[in-house]
Amino acid sequence: MKLYKMEAIVLRARDIGGGDKLLVLYSREYGKIKVIAHGASKPSSRKRGFVQPFNHTKFLIQRGREIDSVSQCEGVEMFSFIREDLKKIGYASYLAELLDALTPEGEPNEFLFALLLETMRLMNNGDDEILARSFEIKCVGFLGYRPVLDSCAECQGQTGGRIHFSSGLGGVLCEACASADREAVSCDRGVVETMKVLLSWPPVKLRLLKVGRPARNQIKVLLRDYLKYYMEHELKSAAFLNRFTQGPPG
Ligand SMILES: [Zn+2]
Repeated sequence: MKLYKMEAIVLRARDIGGGDKLLVLYSREYGKIKVIAHGASKPSSRKRGFVQPFNHTKFLIQRGREIDSVSQCEGVEMFSFIREDLKKIGYASYLAELLDALTPEGEPNEFLFALLLETMRLMNNGDDEILARSFEIKCVGFLGYRPVLDSCAECQGQTGGRIHFSSGLGGVLCEACASADREAVSCDRGVVETMKVLLSWPPVKLRLLKVGRPARNQIKVLLRDYLKYYMEHELKSAAFLNRFTQGPPG
């Protein structure tokens, strides 16, 4: 009987009949992984409380021929403050779905694991909307698609005067390059500066960041388009895209 340990956050949990649950976990050791938790839907199950979405749990997993299964589990953090607040449930569900949509199975990325954990912890008394934007931009950055914000993404020149953003070209554009890209949208320099901060500051420091409503709205749209472009070209995660196109929270 082959057993292995891991520490993971539950992204999704679905009843699959017979009292069993199919879990999608994001683990520190193995990245995204799907496992079965036998009997976890039954009221008497000791696993039940530890396999709910957003839980941070330690697992002992048993290898199976088709799918691995939970042998034992032990809760580390329950995130009850998320579960008690509908708005926070919405944000946490979005973070979990985004990470699920952006990552393939079995590719560990400790930065992404730590980012999700830290972002959820900070939701206890942080700015959920800013934390979600920071999560979005850092996620694509950790996956190798960091938007270029310091110079023109196309010609590497300085971006003086009016500044533009192009999802297709991967960042900000100078005026000359923007005039050749029909998709480029004009944006405020302050918005670009805020996006740099969202990308580079650790989430815990973001409480010092003050962002007005117009800038929040513009960043939300820019990042939504950027992520959508990335997902359509890289992942084609259709189910999430449909939900996502209606707009991420915030
Ligand atoms: Zn340029």
